[in-house]
Amino acid sequence: MDYDVIVVGGGAAGLMAACTAAERGRKVLLLEKMDQAGRKLRITGKGRCNLTNTNPLRDTLPHIGSSTAGSTNKPGQTGGVWLRNAYGRFFAPELMEWFEQRGVELTVERGNRVYPASGKALDIFLALIGELEQSPNVTIRKNTTVKSIETFEGQATAVILERGERIACRHIILATGGLSYPTTGSTGAGYRICRELGHTIVETVPSLVALKCQEKIPEELVGFQLKNVQFSVLSCSSPKLGEGDRREAVVEECVFRSSIGEMTFANDGLAGPIVLSASRIASRALHAGETLTALLDLKPALTPEQLDKRLLSDINANGTRVFNDALRLWLPAELIPLALPQLHIEYYKRLHQLTGEERRRLRDWLKGVRFTLTGTHDWNEAVVTQGGVSLAEVNPKTMESRLVSGLYIVGELLDLDADTGGYNLQIAFSTAHAAGEAV
Ligand SMILES: Cc1cc2nc3c(=O)[nH]c(=O)nc-3n(C[C@H](O)[C@H](O)[C@H](O)COP(=O)(O)OP(=O)(O)OC[C@H]3O[C@@H](n4cnc5c(N)ncnc54)[C@H](O)[C@@H]3O)c2cc1C
Repeated sequence: MDYDVIVVGGGAAGLMAACTAAERGRKVLLLEKMDQAGRKLRITGKGRCNLTNTNPLRDTLPHIGSSTAGSTNKPGQTGGVWLRNAYGRFFAPELMEWFEQRGVELTVERGNRVYPASGKALDIFLALIGELEQSPNVTIRKNTTVKSIETFEGQATAVILERGERIACRHIILATGGLSYPTTGSTGAGYRICRELGHTIVETVPSLVALKCQEKIPEELVGFQLKNVQFSVLSCSSPKLGEGDRREAVVEECVFRSSIGEMTFANDGLAGPIVLSASRIASRALHAGETLTALLDLKPALTPEQLDKRLLSDINANGTRVFNDALRLWLPAELIPLALPQLHIEYYKRLHQLTGEERRRLRDWLKGVRFTLTGTHDWNEAVVTQGGVSLAEVNPKTMESRLVSGLYIVGELLDLDADTGGYNLQIAFSTAHAAGEAV
């Protein structure tokens, strides 16, 4: 055998696993199917790479989910607990030190997000690949696709390439990524390889992705951005609550409430950071064929009572203005074509003619614009994959498969996914580091 370790996949996880193993004197062969490694890594964070987050561990764990039985994907009830051991040895401070020692200056931005100070994701990639290219212990083969892994009596023995070549090795780190952005090379091959070896694959669905809705989005709204709004997803698929129902009842039904932030409108639905976060909760149900109700709160800083007072005083001060024009007092003009058909209030009514019931209807609409969610955008737009290799079948200390000795499974291939904020790359780097140490 020419190599101690074969790493399959040259993304964030594969590169870090290869660096860690090589640093410890292992002879490493890195196999990457594309003509270049790290294609996805280089486009992360809109080309700036949000590589981690400086939140302490206890604040990080609720951002990480898993669908493996026994864990849940709801924020606060976390699959991230599974990562405690790997995080205990290689977490944000160690990751930041790793890059800083290799000359990459880092900066911490809003929400404790960490980026290279240069603003270039490329610098993160170059630090990793530079380390491997300098190491006498590492061989990199690009344009090389692994088809399967050979085993004998429960032990990994070799990788089999698509062209038929067999390369023997007793330690194989599988880092082939998930299904999102398939043009970067992440086409889900690892799921098939693991399934063939007997692993359970928790059904994969796109996550951190735009959501489709039934309501028609007016053309002039497409691409329009809203700031300082809040987005909630309700648990019931067919809302029992009518327009006149009390908000308290709606609160009880809420399974996801975003922080106050930004969203945009797409031609068939909703996108932007707070909607992407909601997709972590909604995607699995939507892909199972359910429809979900979402509420958009345009005035999250005001209670319904405070908003009602404000409406009343604006109405008194602008009594002669006609309703469809006066809506600009409370909404960006771009939203008026969405609001008018839903409010069922006569367009040319003067404000002083509005009834108390109509004012309350307007208040309720501003606090909860309803959308019926019907699906998600596809893998070409999803930031990460939800689902993957069941955590129950992987040792959380070493990432070694509990079914095949010598096989280590890392990165997005595992049934772990997280919010935006640098958490997904930290998962890739920490699991890869654990496997690199173990081999
Ligand atoms: C647009 C975008 C922006 C993102 N921004 C951020 C961000 O700022 N912060 C953050 O934390 N996360 C971000 N993410 C998520 C993050 O990029 C992933 O979680 C991370 O890249 C997963 O790393 P990985 O190594 O497991 O998989 P990947 O990065 O997908 O790497 C897998 C590699 O394996 C190779 N491969 C696949 N199959 C085979 C095979 N059969 N044989 C050989 N090689 C194979 C692929 O070509 C690829 O190079 C972003 C994702 C996207 C799509």
